[in-house]
Amino acid sequence: MSPEKSAFLRERHPLIFSATKQSHPHAPFSYWGLQCGDGWAGLLDDLCRQLQCETAENGAPQVVALQVKEKFGAIRFYAADLAARQRNLVQAAEAASKTTCETCGAPGALIDGLWVKTRCTAHAAD
Ligand SMILES: [Zn+2]
Repeated sequence: MSPEKSAFLRERHPLIFSATKQSHPHAPFSYWGLQCGDGWAGLLDDLCRQLQCETAENGAPQVVALQVKEKFGAIRFYAADLAARQRNLVQAAEAASKTTCETCGAPGALIDGLWVKTRCTAHAAD
């Protein structure tokens, strides 16, 4: 993810994106941050807002992202101690990523090539 989009998300969700090498030395997020394309920034923003809402309003645990990456064309969001409703939100975001271009955020589809990825027609060759 570009530094600009990454900074935007970290600023908006400082508690979720709080893992550091000191606090979480075994979490990939501490070292590599957000490992996916800018096209999924909006989807991640929505997910984090909903996860934080569960914490603030329903007493769910504070989510701390341990790894956020692309795998098999979909987003993977790993965190410890997710409540059931938070797990459902993560699963919904993973499902939504399969129809969202990872490059630009436009509607897209899974493309099966050398690697499976999710792209719109304009970015199919990316
Ligand atoms: Zn695209």
